[in-house]
Amino acid sequence: MTVTGENFVGTRKSAQGGQTFRAFDPVANAALDPEFHSATEAEVDAAAKLAEEAFQVYRRKSGKERAAFLVKIAEEIEALGDTLINRCHQETGLPLARLQSERGRTTGQLRMFADLVSEGSWVDARIETALPDRQPIPKPDLRSMLIALGPVGVFGASNFPLAFSVAGGDTASALAAGCTVVCKAHPSHPGTSELVANAILRAAEKTGMPNGVFSLLHGPGPDVGLAIVRHPLIQAIGFTGSFGGGKALFDEAAKRPVPIPVYAEMGSINPVFILPGAQNSKAEELSNMVSASVTLGVGQFCTNPGILVTQSGSQVSEFEKMLAKKIEACPAGPMLSPGIKKNYESGLNNLKSQPDVELLSQGKADGVSTAGVPHVLRTNVKNFLTNHELGKEVFGPSTLIVASESREDLLTVANAMEGQLTATLIGTLEELPDYADLVSVLERKVGRLIVNGLPTGVEVCHAMVHGGPFPATTDSRSTSVGTAAIFRFARAVCYQGFPQSLLPDELKDGNPLSIWRLVNGQRTKS
Ligand code: NAP
Repeated sequence: MTVTGENFVGTRKSAQGGQTFRAFDPVANAALDPEFHSATEAEVDAAAKLAEEAFQVYRRKSGKERAAFLVKIAEEIEALGDTLINRCHQETGLPLARLQSERGRTTGQLRMFADLVSEGSWVDARIETALPDRQPIPKPDLRSMLIALGPVGVFGASNFPLAFSVAGGDTASALAAGCTVVCKAHPSHPGTSELVANAILRAAEKTGMPNGVFSLLHGPGPDVGLAIVRHPLIQAIGFTGSFGGGKALFDEAAKRPVPIPVYAEMGSINPVFILPGAQNSKAEELSNMVSASVTLGVGQFCTNPGILVTQSGSQVSEFEKMLAKKIEACPAGPMLSPGIKKNYESGLNNLKSQPDVELLSQGKADGVSTAGVPHVLRTNVKNFLTNHELGKEVFGPSTLIVASESREDLLTVANAMEGQLTATLIGTLEELPDYADLVSVLERKVGRLIVNGLPTGVEVCHAMVHGGPFPATTDSRSTSVGTAAIFRFARAVCYQGFPQSLLPDELKDGNPLSIWRLVNGQRTKS
């Protein structure tokens, strides 16, 4: 299949815009063919209008019909075979094996949402039957369930070109909920985006979904994205990417005459608290684990452990020395784009230039111009608490050790932390129970707490929370990974005094869909 560089307004290919750009191969340091056309405002408008038209039909499709669509998308992505993996590899420099596994994660995620909506209980049906004889006033018949919000704008991230992009978690959960999608392609993998968009559109055609259920628009720079957020027919936004991008879109949505929810998953420094027992007794094992996590995927994960809080005081501990050695031995790897590499270097230079920050070690540079060199730096708690620059995310393979003097210091650092996607505790089974107060502070700060593991690696499942308080996300009640991600794109409606014939199947007497419902306070399928 050839990549053509056009936008998809529904199934219609469109290239009205005069502005063009090319993808970039970060390993070969060369631009790639073909030229991609930035969408015009008219194309954004056409895609949003078609998404609204399609929504009128798509929202009425049953859970089983939507499930068939999601499964077909997964199959069509798989059918792209090496064409997809090779283009994605060229555009991102990510290793083939990593991309194959990310494709599995993407198709697995689509099938997971298919199972969820095929079973159907996710709509949280609640039924309170009428009590006409109740005194002093009768109780009416009340029934509620979740319904889809409408057309959703989706923005993918550069670091997961498949799993957090065109057919990633945001698109999968929005389509599962019954929403239509207008997706802004990430300019660092536009060809990958086009191939996946083709797969979605083929799946829509094969499963009888309306034209406009999905559109893909290109456009480097803010214009196309802002036009999507401002469009009055767009009802919600799913975003994964930088703090600057997510916050800009959130602010824009709040300025609309009719504001809409923006679910932006942004950066995080993912503090790891290393308790003294573990630090002293498992220095070797720990240094292996931590260095592998810091450098995994050239550090380009939003769950990368950016801060290690130790209790080593002013003396560099054995663990820290071992970690420094491991990082020194780590080769640099190509970063996703020259822009990401530039940001990484400027973040590192900023850290290195701060007072009382010591460079413990750095890895080996190589010849690739976009290579990100691993780094480990060290500072003390007092410095960390007083210098805001040290708490900023540096997106890449680096970590900052914050050396504390005492147990109280750990609590102070935890209390001072901004919202995070994750926090991790590493300790022995003997010492962990003594840190319940630390857990208590951290559970108010993060979406996921990890004990004796590391934050990289986000399992896609029912119990996952990939979210957290601001600035990790713009809505601390949401997750962008796992089945609970669907709730971002739905809202509850209550039907009072409705005849059976007008009720959705989910709320009818007799439970024709056999879903779990809350009937007069009892969870039941009957
Ligand atoms: P990014 O630069 O924020 O870009 C994401 C998308 O948003 C792109 O399509 C981008 O378009 C658009 N965008 C950015 N700023 C915008 C603005 N002001 N107005 C309109 N559109 C805007 O993110 P990235 O390139 O993927 O950079 C990696 C960052 O993502 C890291 O900081 C990392 O921590 C974060 N990340 C977070 C998660 C998570 O789950 N929280 C996951 C992965 C990555 P243009 O590029 O065309 O402007």
